[in-house]
Amino acid sequence: MLSNQFQNGIETAKLAWAPLPNTEDGEGDEVVGVSRKNDGDRVESLDYEVVENHAYREEQAQRGKLYVGYYVGVKWLFALLIGVGTGLAAVFINISVENFAGWKFSLTFSVIQKSYVAGFLLYILINLVLVFSSAFIITNFAPAAAGSGIPEIKGYLNGVDTHGILLFRTLIGKIFGSIGSVGGGLALGKEGPLVHTGACIASLLGQGGSTKYHLSSRWLQFFNSDRDRRDLVTCGCAAGVAAAFRAPVGGVLFALEEVTSWWRSQLMWRVFFTSAIVAVVVRTAMGWCKSGKCGHFGSGGFIIWDISGGQEDYSFEELLPMAVIGVIGGLLGALFNQLTRYITYWRRNYLHKKGNRFKIIEVCLISVITSVISFGLPLFRKCSPCPEADPNFPIECPRPPGMYGNYVNFFCGKDKEYNDLATIFFNTQDDAIRNLFSAKTIHEYSAQSLLTFLVMFYTLAVVTFGTAVPAGQFVPGIMIGSTYGRLVGMFVVSFYKKLNIEEGTYALLGAASFLGGSMRMTVSLCVIMVEITNNLKLLPLIMLVLLISKAVGDAFNEGLYEEQARLRGIPLLESRPKYEMRKMQAKEACRNQKVVYFPRVIKVADVVSSLKSNNHNGFPVIDHTRSGETLVIGLVLRSHLLVLLQSKVDFQHSPLPCDTGGGSLPIRHNLSEFVKPASSKGISIHDIHLGPDDLEMYIDLAPFVNRSPYIVPDDMSLTKGLYGPSEEMIPFAQVYNLFRQLGLRHIFVVPRASRVIGMITRKDLLIEETDDPATVELQSTSV
Ligand code: ATP
Ligand code: MG
Repeated sequence: MLSNQFQNGIETAKLAWAPLPNTEDGEGDEVVGVSRKNDGDRVESLDYEVVENHAYREEQAQRGKLYVGYYVGVKWLFALLIGVGTGLAAVFINISVENFAGWKFSLTFSVIQKSYVAGFLLYILINLVLVFSSAFIITNFAPAAAGSGIPEIKGYLNGVDTHGILLFRTLIGKIFGSIGSVGGGLALGKEGPLVHTGACIASLLGQGGSTKYHLSSRWLQFFNSDRDRRDLVTCGCAAGVAAAFRAPVGGVLFALEEVTSWWRSQLMWRVFFTSAIVAVVVRTAMGWCKSGKCGHFGSGGFIIWDISGGQEDYSFEELLPMAVIGVIGGLLGALFNQLTRYITYWRRNYLHKKGNRFKIIEVCLISVITSVISFGLPLFRKCSPCPEADPNFPIECPRPPGMYGNYVNFFCGKDKEYNDLATIFFNTQDDAIRNLFSAKTIHEYSAQSLLTFLVMFYTLAVVTFGTAVPAGQFVPGIMIGSTYGRLVGMFVVSFYKKLNIEEGTYALLGAASFLGGSMRMTVSLCVIMVEITNNLKLLPLIMLVLLISKAVGDAFNEGLYEEQARLRGIPLLESRPKYEMRKMQAKEACRNQKVVYFPRVIKVADVVSSLKSNNHNGFPVIDHTRSGETLVIGLVLRSHLLVLLQSKVDFQHSPLPCDTGGGSLPIRHNLSEFVKPASSKGISIHDIHLGPDDLEMYIDLAPFVNRSPYIVPDDMSLTKGLYGPSEEMIPFAQVYNLFRQLGLRHIFVVPRASRVIGMITRKDLLIEETDDPATVELQSTSV
């Protein structure tokens, strides 16, 4: 049974959209709706907002400058730890992948000296075992580690909590899963997963380790609000890219351009610092590995395709074919997004619903097909004689048996021959890309081989995307793009015979164009491409193709990560709202709901029944003035209510407010629990058991409500402006922008306020330096 007071709250809520009569003192605001993101109610949002309740205000009052210094210092320390952790994880993944791939190729090469069939079967088997191990880990241990993880992290930084993405088991699954899937030769890369790995490391550090696996430390448990973790996860994402490509600046820009929704200059410094640390860690590890301590790692190398020594200059005539590469990139990238969207949709709704067994069988089948294609197709190519070695660029052709790299001798009759298709197909991805980018080798690949590779690899990449293994799209994208880029390059080389043109340059531009056409990034991709190829001279050309490919791709569909986020039901708030929203007002977004309120002092039984009857996470709390007018005193979070119910400390017998009028509230509870929003994955209302006596008690919610919730008038437009009768735009504040730019979870919608008690302008926010900071005051002008 609801108490009378609570019933009143509900009754008032039924007045949705009916503006309350204006009150004398202007404080009679009635909440007519709670505006929030349209998420299909499946995922919950994060509380990035500061809960400005009594506890928070008390804590702020107690904190001195020393605390602030300590807080900032710990944030920097964490930025350092994230850099070291992600760098080491990247080195571990790379060493493992290179070694598995190295053993695989040397073993296969040594067996095919004796029997081709045995070599073929061995190759399939090794790939299958690696891929199976990856799929097994993902399906049985860490389902959230499947895919690249970038859409989910993007969602997290946009304010959406996807279950399990930042857990310790997800981190382990991601690391070991990517070793299996990349080492097993599937058409996917390890770069996206490294971004997710960096984010997991950051989040785990931020929460002080994993309590479930007893790997936590009290000393690390310093940051536990969503807001602090958001900053750390941003550092982790940048660290992931910096580690994957050894591109520290690219990492910072990737975080800024692609994954984050909010950015501050202080964060920029920390992210930059983390990326720099990653670069140092990776370089140190590579230096250590050079002396052969890391097995096959070092001969294959990290992801860096140094093409210095390639084309230094370009002529005006080349701009047209380069623009064509941009257009092809846009078209193929958009097609890739579309095809993966259809396949992912089908997979999620039909195949993957049948259970884990089907997921594993699917990946294993794709692994066998990939192995058969990469081993079988080069068999149909004729070998070519090795090119004449240029004294300035000595070429080792063919590679000695067991060594993989450029100019692979694969089923060639003679010694001084190589198989061009095997050079790209029957190789590690990093080596294949290095070979495709290679300069000073005119017509190393025949057009036929490049085309065959393009069609087959594109198809494999589309089919592999979305399977139950960790999968990144950067490397497949680079491989696809560099293939058609090199094809265009071959044509240009034969057409403009006199110019000093390198096919490798076109391969690089092709790679940039495909990534631009699919992922729709510009600045970060551009910097990443320059950093991985070490060739700054090509910067303007990369910018050109990226701009073209992004523009062409945008004409067809959204970027890969946005498409995938939508498919996964992650309600991302994009930087650009949908056009249809322009004509909507805040009250229309509330979907005619009846607001679930709490009165200030409420019976415990009413809180319990209300929490059981809905899944909302934020509730307006109302009070009544002495003259009987309704007053919105703030917002209370479900998580805080649960803490209150569980501890019972603040239960009282009297239905009267505990405020004695003196301002200080006699609170019995440990306030520190209410400074930050409790974790959304904590206890549930069904876990709390209260006796009949408890249910008859009351709680005064006043000390626990966020007294500064965001409140907008009901006719505020949702987005940029509202078109008036004459179709000209009337500028209004924008709910959408407030939500996105401030990272909000709830906004109250109220009828228009009736009175203005002050006006703050820019000048009021500039605090003058005085000797005593305590005397600093914000000025406001009364009207
Ligand atoms: P999120 O899901 O973003 O974490 P939430 O869980 O508080 O926030 P939901 O309950 O999932 O919000 O929102 C579902 C719908 O309920 C939305 O349309 C929202 O406007 C509405 N809603 C949210 N809170 C209340 C409330 N206190 N009273 C009435 N309707 C609400
Ligand atoms: Mg919800």
